[in-house]
Amino acid sequence: MRAITGCDFLPFSRPSISQADIDAVSEVLRSGWITTGSRAAAFEQAFCDYVGCRSAVGLSSATAGMHLALKALGVGEGDEVITPSMTWVSTVNLIVLMGAAPVFADVDRDTLMVSGDTIARCITPRTKVIIPVHFAGSAVDMESVMQLARRQNIFVVEDAAHALGAEYRERLIGGSGTSIFSFHPIKNITAGEGGMFCSDDAELLNSVRRLKFHGLGVDAYDRHTQGRSPQAQVQEPGYKYNMTDVSAALGLSQLGRIEEFNSKRTALAMRYQDRLREVDELIELSVPNYPFRHAWHLFIVRLDTDRAGMSRDDFMVKLKARGIGTGLHFFPVHLQKYYRENATTEPGSLVNTEWNAGRILSLPLFPGMTVDDVDRVIDTIKEIL
Ligand SMILES: *Cc1c(COP(=O)(O)O)cnc(C)c1O
Repeated sequence: MRAITGCDFLPFSRPSISQADIDAVSEVLRSGWITTGSRAAAFEQAFCDYVGCRSAVGLSSATAGMHLALKALGVGEGDEVITPSMTWVSTVNLIVLMGAAPVFADVDRDTLMVSGDTIARCITPRTKVIIPVHFAGSAVDMESVMQLARRQNIFVVEDAAHALGAEYRERLIGGSGTSIFSFHPIKNITAGEGGMFCSDDAELLNSVRRLKFHGLGVDAYDRHTQGRSPQAQVQEPGYKYNMTDVSAALGLSQLGRIEEFNSKRTALAMRYQDRLREVDELIELSVPNYPFRHAWHLFIVRLDTDRAGMSRDDFMVKLKARGIGTGLHFFPVHLQKYYRENATTEPGSLVNTEWNAGRILSLPLFPGMTVDDVDRVIDTIKEIL
């Protein structure tokens, strides 16, 4: 059932796949080489050229990238890793799977991002890594985070899953330090699934390259092209997280349109901001006061539940019944079943995260949408409220 109120369902997100994307993938499928190969190498290089990083490693997901980063940094038993609870579950799951303890930094109530201040309160002698999240396509105040991290000798891995094309102080996120991007279909570009690990740390890059393919120190392509040289041997036990050429061809083709995608997202976000002045029950996020460029991965609003006289969940159900899809980014990790039952963080201690938990929702936002779609969302919201 698609048509609910007579018009098509507007999903919360939809990938923008062009004929060029399809052709690029078809070419790989016809080529006789479909796993990690020349397309993966070309995508890595193009990604480096775009964000301005020293080197980039294509992977099967951003989650894989986070796993490899934590492994390469030696995170394990007795270590603590600081990250927000207002994030995707993958980061926190991995911290736990590595045997370490997640420590949740609260976020700013109106940007949903951590800062040097909220992180500083979480630092202990056990802190090994800090993982800030550039939320919704905005940019964390990295200067304050890096100052703190350098002083305490703690490594920083930026979760840039939302932030392809975002800038912080006139530099693209990913251009320095260590960051991880995602190409899941809802992200600003997609590779079907996929991730990119960017770093300026040569040692870490070496480890991640080795660990992503069985710890062999070569990948499937090397084995193919250098097949007659002596068989590669395990340098250390590794994983199977390489990016296929099928994915890379799609990612590379999409990367060519990132600026176009993001300017469409920006225009739609501006229309939302304009029209939301008509809706008193929705509270927008605020934007940071330092120089940055928004990638508008998500358009998040908070429902003033008292004023609206309904819960956020009911509001989402009503929107869906009227043909509007929404998303929830995120249900705080420390409030999820496993983390409640194995609590290191008392519910109630992350005041701003929890204030937002019952109020946030993400409105439809993707490059294939039109300004008319935005108007339809706002008109429907006004009708419901
Ligand atoms: C999507 C996302 C991830 C994980 O990306 P995958 O490629 O799906 O593994 C990590 N962190 C955040 C904030 C995300 O939104």
